[in-house]
Amino acid sequence: GERPRLLVVANRLPVSSKKTGENSWSMEMSPGGKFNLLGGVTDQYDTKWVGWPGFDVYNEVEKTALSKSLAQMNCIPVFLNEVFDQYYNGYSNGIIWPILHHMGLPIEYHHDANKTFQTQYDAYKKANRMFLDVVIENYEEGDTIWCQDYHLMFLPQYLKEYDNKIKVGWFLHSPFPSSEVYKTLPSRSELLRSVLRADLLGFHTYDFARHFVSTCTQILGVEGTHEGVVDQGRLTRVVVLPMGIDPDRFISTCKLPEVIQQMNELKEKFSGKKVILGVDRLDMIKGIPQKYLGFEKFLEENPDWRDKVVLVQIAVPTRDAVPEYQKVRDQVHGLVGRINGRFGSISSLPVHHMDCSVPSNYLCALYATADVMLVTSLRDGLNLVSHEFVASQESKKGVLILSEFAGAGQSLGAGALLVNPWNVTEVSSAIKDALTMPAEEREERHRVNFQYVISNSAEKWGGDFLSELNDAFAESEMKI
Ligand code: UDP
Repeated sequence: GERPRLLVVANRLPVSSKKTGENSWSMEMSPGGKFNLLGGVTDQYDTKWVGWPGFDVYNEVEKTALSKSLAQMNCIPVFLNEVFDQYYNGYSNGIIWPILHHMGLPIEYHHDANKTFQTQYDAYKKANRMFLDVVIENYEEGDTIWCQDYHLMFLPQYLKEYDNKIKVGWFLHSPFPSSEVYKTLPSRSELLRSVLRADLLGFHTYDFARHFVSTCTQILGVEGTHEGVVDQGRLTRVVVLPMGIDPDRFISTCKLPEVIQQMNELKEKFSGKKVILGVDRLDMIKGIPQKYLGFEKFLEENPDWRDKVVLVQIAVPTRDAVPEYQKVRDQVHGLVGRINGRFGSISSLPVHHMDCSVPSNYLCALYATADVMLVTSLRDGLNLVSHEFVASQESKKGVLILSEFAGAGQSLGAGALLVNPWNVTEVSSAIKDALTMPAEEREERHRVNFQYVISNSAEKWGGDFLSELNDAFAESEMKI
């Protein structure tokens, strides 16, 4: 029979487009982009992606031309143009994001701060309506609509208002905070009521799902059950489904001659030393300062290790126009200088810190040659980097040190050394344990995590979510 149709709606389309002529673009799937990971699921379904193309297009002729090129990649653009900044940088990343990551609302003191807030909220709703319009234009009866993440919290409600029989799922890729934090959000009820209109809601961990359900019961007075949230007899199903990666991509990349060459160069460069690796966006949620404080303490207390270990940190620039992000960057640079100043010598520097991203093959070579991966997120929806490290360590079987505050801590916790990144002593002793771990324990821990990463791919995640969504939808249909 015909494949069922699936519309995946996310803020950003999974392609990058480059303008090559007046009305022509070249398109490339963004490798490793979160939503490219569905793999085989997108073959089982006739899948289309709906999202912002990554830039403004005002001219109608250009819009049509771009839409045509995108259609060849099964992508459908939402042209947000003047709404984008207030919706994305304003409400999504300036208001919802800090709340979801337990950071509280930023407070602005200028006299029309409240107006700014209102403008951003309006833009957020407007943008969600623009996504709705594009989905509706492309909707056919029986389609599944899968909304992704905190940028689209009004979309479930808008879709159900348009037609209550549309099958709608929503997945949150971020953490969901304790109700004490979430409650501070001025538009707290509207956002919750909207996502509850979906047929299925997905979260990475039990804690996030539990926080969400208890927040709903406290703010909306609805009932929380083991299946989800019940409002006047209507159930919204809530499931815990941690995402994964495409492990085969990393396993096969590690075998490419080019990557083996890079691995050999890295081994030579760091010969005689153990390599600790960090790969994070330079974001306050990643706890990079905490990581450096832990490493500094380790070097302080273990003088023998000072010229035998390096910490290689890839710090990918992100939101660098935002003052708080510039502050973390300066703080991090200060720490790097201090550690290298205190413990460096002519022949060795303990920290190699880079403000940059690296090509995906090279990243794989770094993952594969590291002895220890150090993840110290203060809050993190999942943390794909930890999965990618495990997938790339088939031959080395290195140690993963993982923050208990990363979603992945709940799935890779069995094989990893879990740490509280705020506890500098704990991070320092985990580094020591990782560097001195007997081979047998190291291999066993790796085996457990590798098995998990292999059998919990993003493809499985997508398939599981969609089959849960079908079940939840069928059940609610029966009740009507
Ligand atoms: N990544 C990348 N280039 C780099 C470093 C990292 O593309 O130079 C990728 C990495 O492979 C991973 C993603 O960025 O897939 C980061 O995802 P994660 O869930 O760890 O954190 P996020 O940045 O989404 O908070």
